Amino acid sequence: MRTSPRHLLALVALLAVAGCGSRQHDSAASTSSQSSSPGVAPSPPRTDALASVLPKQILELTSQVIIYECPKCDRMFDTAGQCLFDQSPLYPVKITYICGVDGTIIDHHGPCPKCGRMVQIEKAKMLPSGIRVEREN
Ligand SMILES: [Zn+2]
Ligand SMILES: [Zn+2]
Repeated sequence: MRTSPRHLLALVALLAVAGCGSRQHDSAASTSSQSSSPGVAPSPPRTDALASVLPKQILELTSQVIIYECPKCDRMFDTAGQCLFDQSPLYPVKITYICGVDGTIIDHHGPCPKCGRMVQIEKAKMLPSGIRVEREN
């Protein structure tokens, strides 16, 4: 008549799955459908804005007839305007390719067709004070 006490260990596992995850509303407005955000728009292409306006420097005379020179730095340019380096107004110069021996004039720099000597470059500088002619090889 011994009554052994039974300890009934009732293990009740309550696996409470907490469904408290933050819900994200999947409205389709988060991708690239909207273009109202500033700063993302690409800059407009600037290809023909200023490149054709500014004078271009001439490094060597080959067949130019009219050039434009800077009175300060003596750089040569292809169009009228301002010097790219010191903003001085350019003055026109008429170029003549002339042989210094026999006076033959040709339309480009090179040897004289008569004597074979390299022609000289004659610059008629149309300065505001008058035309000044200079020759250089
Ligand atoms: Zn200059
Ligand atoms: Zn010649």
